[in-house]
Amino acid sequence: MEKKDHILSGPKPTNPLEDGTVGQYVFTMLKNYENLPNCITDLELGHSISYKELLRTTLRLADCLRRNGCGVGTVISICSEHNVYYLQPVISAWYAGITVSPVNANYTERELIHVFTISKPEIIFCSERTLQKVAKLQQKLPFVKKIISLDGSRDSGDFETLNNFIKRSTNKDFDFKYFKTHEFDRNEHVAAILYSSGTTGLPKGVMLTDRNLMIRFNQCMDPLCNTANHLQPRDAVLHFLPLFHGYGFVSSLGFLCMGFHLLLLHSYREHLFLSSVEKYKIKSCNVVPSIMISLVKSAALKDYNLSSLTELVCGSAPLPKEIVSQVKQRFNNPEIRQGYGLTESCVVSTITPLGNKKRTSVGKLLTFTQAKVVDVHSRESLGAHRVGEICLKGNIMKGYKGDIKATKNTINQSGWLHTGDMGYYDEDQHFYMVDRFKELIKYKSFQVAPAELEALLLDYPGIKEAAVVGKPDLLAGELPTAFIVTDPDANISNQEVQEYIKVNVSQEKQLRGGVYFVDAIPKNATGKMNKIELRKIFEAISKLR
Ligand code: AMP
Repeated sequence: MEKKDHILSGPKPTNPLEDGTVGQYVFTMLKNYENLPNCITDLELGHSISYKELLRTTLRLADCLRRNGCGVGTVISICSEHNVYYLQPVISAWYAGITVSPVNANYTERELIHVFTISKPEIIFCSERTLQKVAKLQQKLPFVKKIISLDGSRDSGDFETLNNFIKRSTNKDFDFKYFKTHEFDRNEHVAAILYSSGTTGLPKGVMLTDRNLMIRFNQCMDPLCNTANHLQPRDAVLHFLPLFHGYGFVSSLGFLCMGFHLLLLHSYREHLFLSSVEKYKIKSCNVVPSIMISLVKSAALKDYNLSSLTELVCGSAPLPKEIVSQVKQRFNNPEIRQGYGLTESCVVSTITPLGNKKRTSVGKLLTFTQAKVVDVHSRESLGAHRVGEICLKGNIMKGYKGDIKATKNTINQSGWLHTGDMGYYDEDQHFYMVDRFKELIKYKSFQVAPAELEALLLDYPGIKEAAVVGKPDLLAGELPTAFIVTDPDANISNQEVQEYIKVNVSQEKQLRGGVYFVDAIPKNATGKMNKIELRKIFEAISKLR
């Protein structure tokens, strides 16, 4: 790693970045694995597809999308739980130069309207479970031309199943041999729009270009910074991370580019997870801290042979340091790899090296990545062991879709991404996260934007002021917690507020930390809410216990 003026750079990549677009790259990789029988298996429903089926279906679907007028400039979305079809529209879109914007299938109508209004998808690929919810919104979203059911077996009303859409739109002369992926400027073209609230405000659309994703896949293949180093094509990997979130999205697609057998669980379920590790001899698995903690506490671990698991990769939220040694003890001493990054930095910016002994570190910079730590007041870049804001460069987003102001507030004129994370690096350029000073709560690694809940609370009759902060919690990381000031004559109960939030936002955003009625929200000199003061209340409460 080079060091210059307190700017740190990741190692030189083992292989240069491949030419072409992300669609061309995925196409080449899938063709390489065409003869591998196992590509994606849905462990809960028992469905499976081979690499050849994935390649052929995605080529055909790309052709159908083109014939339906989609191409560069079109956005499609996926709103579905995990299934073997989920990644098909993603890959097809990339072949055809279409932008993909997956969304959380558990979102309420309100939340869906917010994200769809940002990305404006023309086609939304749903599951049978989400179809009616999305269909109800179509009138409010005039840009949506089609809704397709990924897993449906029969057309219903205006909705086609994926199979029928392909059957009806396929060109009779279509021949796989002559399929050509689309060409365009990969540095500018947006391949994916994912959602993040960034350092402040409501969820925004993070635009990742083809180049961003190509770099990510190049990193996945690079022994200098990849995980799963010891896996070969055909090896099985277990996957339950949400596919709409950057971490699950890029890791699942990266696994396919490596020829692995992707075994999907719809969500983490202890017995299915443990029995699948044993049955499929899983060697590596990507997790988040809340899962690591559940594993440490699990009484069922001893009932399974988990010796195949030689690596656990954890990211997306702080991992309590004692958990690393406990997981090592409870399993067969696997490597614990930690990664750090943001949706805005194409998900991963640092990873702990193999054989890492520094358990509290989130790792070293990846290839194609630069970082510095700056003093939050003077903006001066700091040397080793000095805590400041982590800033990243190299593989960062193009910007927030349709939000120039938020983009400028996040990426400065020299191209540095301000992460809103406090941290430092040591003499060996290992990075450490200290705190998050941006307005983001992470509940079990899901993003919860305080501004979204505060705006909702302020809409409630009788609530005058509202502040939402994260209450520290060992298992979940943080629990969204509201402090509210009500009108003197308002008679609002805790339960009423909880119920109101429950119907308006998805389950990870519920006020699990509680609702506190206070006389005033502490403010700083400029009148901004002082959330540090609010968090001190939690510290005071925990000392009293
Ligand atoms: P997201 O965009 O949802 O991936 O969230 C990014 C944020 O998650 C970062 O800015 C950090 O605050 C937090 N984060 C990601 N990885 C880690 C990690 N390894 N340790 C602590 N926090 C993390």
